[in-house]
Amino acid sequence: MQIENIDWGKLGFNYMKTDFSYISYYKDGQWDEGKLIEENTLTISQSAAALHYGQQTFEGLKAYRTKNGDIQLFRPDENAKRMIKSCNRIMMPEFPVERFVDACKKVVKANERFMPPYGSGATMYLRPFLIGVGDNIGVKPAPEYIFCIFCMPVGPYFKGGMTPVNFITSEYDRAAPYGTGAAKVGGNYAGSLYPHELAVKSGFADCIYLDPATHTKIEEVGAANFFGITKDDKFVTPISPSILPSITKYSLLHIAKEYLGMEVEERDCLIDNIDEFKEAGACGTAAVITPIGGISHNGKLHVFHSETEVGPVTKKLYDTLYGIQFGDVDGPEGWVVKVD
Ligand SMILES: *Cc1c(COP(=O)(O)O)cnc(C)c1O
Repeated sequence: MQIENIDWGKLGFNYMKTDFSYISYYKDGQWDEGKLIEENTLTISQSAAALHYGQQTFEGLKAYRTKNGDIQLFRPDENAKRMIKSCNRIMMPEFPVERFVDACKKVVKANERFMPPYGSGATMYLRPFLIGVGDNIGVKPAPEYIFCIFCMPVGPYFKGGMTPVNFITSEYDRAAPYGTGAAKVGGNYAGSLYPHELAVKSGFADCIYLDPATHTKIEEVGAANFFGITKDDKFVTPISPSILPSITKYSLLHIAKEYLGMEVEERDCLIDNIDEFKEAGACGTAAVITPIGGISHNGKLHVFHSETEVGPVTKKLYDTLYGIQFGDVDGPEGWVVKVD
């Protein structure tokens, strides 16, 4: 790949092979020391549990170039801890937090020539994953595992300012009440492809999943968490054991409270009571925040602030978090981790 040919401002969210990835193997009950490799393929048994029984988990985080040229990661320890929780849920060995963070730094450093410049809005996206491999045929935990991190530069999510998009509620569920919704495991995403496709075919950006037990409460917006701003300026986000705990969401809860002086609540968000919110958004690593223009439910479109303009509170939340991630705003202690 020729770096000179990359137009940083025009990158999308697309795969690109970079120079190095990190790999560590787990055999006989322990992880090896791990290393950087140049190839972007894996050779695994045809019978690997990851391929048949979905014994796999993944993470997503970004590295940011600051104004003074430094490179920093945003809360990588939180991704490491979430991966451990996912591993516990599907019987995979934990990859230690310090080693996870260290491996993220190694991968970014080794691919520094792909690191987008400050001001382009582009970032380096890291994809850590952990899979069950080795020979196996019964439904049981795999005998061996691979932990791997690869990375690639990705474009600014909003190329011409933040534009709200519309969503539609789905009749399908992404997770069962006491299933694996809170774990970032592959199976949850295979099941979301069809409802996503239906939403797109109806002219929406993605679907909104309601709580699987009663279908009365908002749970997730596609593969992002939901938040709403009430008419009296409270930051509200749903709470449920089947929601994937978004690091962006917890960061926004903190920012709303400590930086913007707002009241915050984690509680049920009833779909029949969405007019309690004057603004709403979807949050996650990829977009930081996607403003929600409106939500279609039972054939009626409910519009929040506007279908074309981002609301003022959503904009402030976005600017603060984006500022912290790129080093222009001081973050809480430990949120940014320098790559050196
Ligand atoms: C990854 C993910 C999110 C966002 O999590 P972040 O840590 O903020 O990137 C939200 N919902 C689902 C279903 C996810 O998989």
